[in-house]
Amino acid sequence: MTRKIAVLPGDGIGPEIMDQAVKVLKALGEDFEMEFADVGGVAYAHHGHPLPQATLDLAKAADAVLFGAVGDFKYDHLERALRPEQAILGLRKALGLFANLRPAKCFAELTQASTLRPEFVSGLDILIVRELTGDIYFGTPRGRRQAPDGHFPGALEAFDTMRYTVPEIERIAHVAFEAARKRGRKVTSVDKANVLETSQLWRDTVTEVAKNYPDVTLEHMYVDNAAMQLVRAPKALDVVLTGNIFGDILSDEASMLTGSIGMLASASLNDKKQGLYEPSHGSAPDIAGKNIANPLATILSAAMMLRYSFDMNEEADRIEAAVQKVLSEGIRTGDIMSEGCRKVSCSEMGDAVVAALG
Ligand code: NAD
Repeated sequence: MTRKIAVLPGDGIGPEIMDQAVKVLKALGEDFEMEFADVGGVAYAHHGHPLPQATLDLAKAADAVLFGAVGDFKYDHLERALRPEQAILGLRKALGLFANLRPAKCFAELTQASTLRPEFVSGLDILIVRELTGDIYFGTPRGRRQAPDGHFPGALEAFDTMRYTVPEIERIAHVAFEAARKRGRKVTSVDKANVLETSQLWRDTVTEVAKNYPDVTLEHMYVDNAAMQLVRAPKALDVVLTGNIFGDILSDEASMLTGSIGMLASASLNDKKQGLYEPSHGSAPDIAGKNIANPLATILSAAMMLRYSFDMNEEADRIEAAVQKVLSEGIRTGDIMSEGCRKVSCSEMGDAVVAALG
């Protein structure tokens, strides 16, 4: 079965890191059809828009999108709709990507990069599953008005609306439970049900969905406690399921436990398992074109694509094991370099992962 991948390298270090991920995918010897297209600043420069129609059509027709990074300060003067970063929002909307998956995995060899003591993070492996299209970021009504009541009636006030429907909660909960089945079989659902109606509905709905997954353990946690547990005992967590605003904050907190931005993969999925896979970092214009960027976040994003869009767990394991092997051999790009290790370029790191695939 041929799997069609839309490859969108983008700007800055995007093309360099994408070359390495493509090299690794090709080395697996599987039946992938990869088609490249412009996105971001380079797309604006070539076609006058950061997400040209041809790129959008390709992404829609593909089984998955592998995305590098977009953005460059030279496009900062453009009106918002034409800025490179708008391409990501456009793709999310067009593909209906409602589930954001961000692993925070700390390789034993890189624990010194974390601000936490090694014993807290060595072997850490969390997956944050964040709802991406609802919650207070999109809820209406919202706006400004004269306060009708409250502490200062008549004063200018602003307001937003937190809201979730049952089907929205159900579909993200299913993503989390399915993901847990591919990992440690535990879901921690994070909410603020002691205060918020939205969170109480969230908790009730997740509890119902859990009945379909008797092999997965469910626990509920208040968001303030979750923020504490992430730095107190992060290794006790496996899959963390949460809404848009709590997930926004907790996923950044979790990712920083690992300390190294060049290692962090991410995925956004829709209900057809179509996904957009990208490193969590940006286009790093300061190091672009120098062949020194760390390609591992992009390579690990490709592994996520195999696991979550293609159900190719064995091949995903092979890539992750190869990355592990390369690190244990002391091979490092500059950003994760430490004493006694061998410093390599971006392309040499890609070659090393290919060689470690065995
Ligand atoms: P950035 O993530 O691009 O870079 C932050 C720092 O981390 C820089 O010093 C950079 O050199 C370093 N870095 C990032 N990725 C690295 C890698 N793979 N290997 C080694 N070092 C790496 O963030 P920024 O500098 O704030 O933003 C640069 C541009 O990227 C901006 O235009 C921003 O809008 C855009 N951006 C895009 C995305 C995306 O495409 N999803 C995400 C964040 C920022």
